Amino acid sequence: MTPPKNKPQNLLLGIGIGGGRVAGTLRFFNRPPKKTTATPKVGTPSDEWKRIEKALEATAARLDTLYKHTWGAAGLEEAKIFEIHGMLLQDDDFLEALQAEHQKGLCAEETLRKATASIAATLEALHDPYLAARAADVRDLSAQIMQALSGEESALPHLGGSPFILVADDLSPSETVMLDRSLILGFVTLHGTQNSHTAILARAMGIPALVAVGNIPAEADGAEALLDAAEGTLTLSPTDEQRRVFSEKQSHDNRIAEEHDRYLRSLINKPAVTRGGHRILIYANIGGGNEVESLLAGGAEGIGLLRSEFLYLREDDYPDEEKLFCAYSDIALKMQGKRTVIRTLDVGADKQIPYFDLPAEENPALGFRAIRVCLARKSLFKTQLRAILRASAVGKLALMLPMVVSVDEVKQSKLLLEECKAELCRENRFFDPELELGIMIETPAAVVMCRELAEEVDFFSVGTNDLSQYTLAADRQNPALATLCEENTEPIMRMIEQAAKAIHEAGGWIGICGEMAADLRFTQRFADMRVDELSVSPPYLLGIRGKVTECI
Ligand code: PEP
Ligand code: MG
Repeated sequence: MTPPKNKPQNLLLGIGIGGGRVAGTLRFFNRPPKKTTATPKVGTPSDEWKRIEKALEATAARLDTLYKHTWGAAGLEEAKIFEIHGMLLQDDDFLEALQAEHQKGLCAEETLRKATASIAATLEALHDPYLAARAADVRDLSAQIMQALSGEESALPHLGGSPFILVADDLSPSETVMLDRSLILGFVTLHGTQNSHTAILARAMGIPALVAVGNIPAEADGAEALLDAAEGTLTLSPTDEQRRVFSEKQSHDNRIAEEHDRYLRSLINKPAVTRGGHRILIYANIGGGNEVESLLAGGAEGIGLLRSEFLYLREDDYPDEEKLFCAYSDIALKMQGKRTVIRTLDVGADKQIPYFDLPAEENPALGFRAIRVCLARKSLFKTQLRAILRASAVGKLALMLPMVVSVDEVKQSKLLLEECKAELCRENRFFDPELELGIMIETPAAVVMCRELAEEVDFFSVGTNDLSQYTLAADRQNPALATLCEENTEPIMRMIEQAAKAIHEAGGWIGICGEMAADLRFTQRFADMRVDELSVSPPYLLGIRGKVTECI
């Protein structure tokens, strides 16, 4: 960070996160000191281990709540931060570290503190900024387990009063996502990094933030300040001139943002067409009916991916046909004739549902998941197929199979679909006999077999998240491989090019529904491939529509 020339005395520097500028009162959040006793009482080894197990269980439940909350407040990708924390809780290395400390006869708190400190120190010692940021996640998790052990709650969500700029030593991802947006104008932390999950969440939630400020004088508590996340500065007790310049910058930002927003909104109900005349359908990815309103407001022309497993995830036992039918019909009706693609159950690997009781596997991502589970548990699959068929009489639905690797899997699924149709006919139930069938391209095998698969199905949608995982041999749940995936998008683009060519030659239709669909860096390439549809999370709808219209 290079300090600006003639840096005023009252100007502090940090790393700006998420852009944005806010003026307000600073309020310091000092964590209450932990209630510690000089020599913690150690129960019997079995009592202390039971306390740890109970705290781990409580933390898992809290992470589940945070996951759901974050999904609504920031987005699905951001919510996965807490899914990863949840996986860390069950990680063998973590559990072994706990066991090792426990065997030294320590109390539960010391066991946890020592085990997590050694994992965080190992990550930090690798001198990789990405892994160093993951050490912060380990500490966050440790603090949450500690809280569960002590029964204390974080004081942060209970801050009240009028809106202010929060100043803290550091904020954990779980604290950040629970920040009350009506109260917190922005936040400043003394520590923290650009790559931390706290920073990722602040960006996704649109909170202006400044991290790694180093030091703020204690007298600044309660003082007025200007937080400039675009320039990475904090001005304490600003002069009139500093206020004037700041407010001009704010007005300029607002004008630009409003103009851009107006431009994007003017496109909402217009087809997204490139300057070269290629029309791309802009669809949305969702996990449940509660998101339909936001996708319609964002101008989605349909739902390109309904992740149907989320309906199962919310239940404690297998939902029956009636429950599924009601959920799908509800969405079909709300979509007012716009097409909804329901992806059949993708359970297994990173999406475990306890009551499915799937076998433990050495390599879950390469194991029993998605279509493999459905074809092995035919009655479960038929329940879902029947519910989708019945709901297809209510609105415009399509069916999509996940994780396909062979033509045979598609043929087996089609046979089951025909069986369901015959049953429904016998029961005099309505369904759309023309219900379209598609598959996801998530494996290199599906890319290679596109020509043959195109003879069996009506459409394709590329799941770039899994296609990246299986093409790069990089577990999508392994945070240490995230950079590798980010840096190697070219092989994935070439895979999609190959698939699009084969599918178009066969007269077929191809969309993209993985995260790369929403990445504006790739839109021109997708337009060049003459991709037919881009399906993205609701917050990205407007941006992607605008980008398509700028493509040549
Ligand atoms: C994908 O793999 O890109 C995809 C959209 O499916 P999911 O992320 O649900 O596995
Ligand atoms: Mg997938």
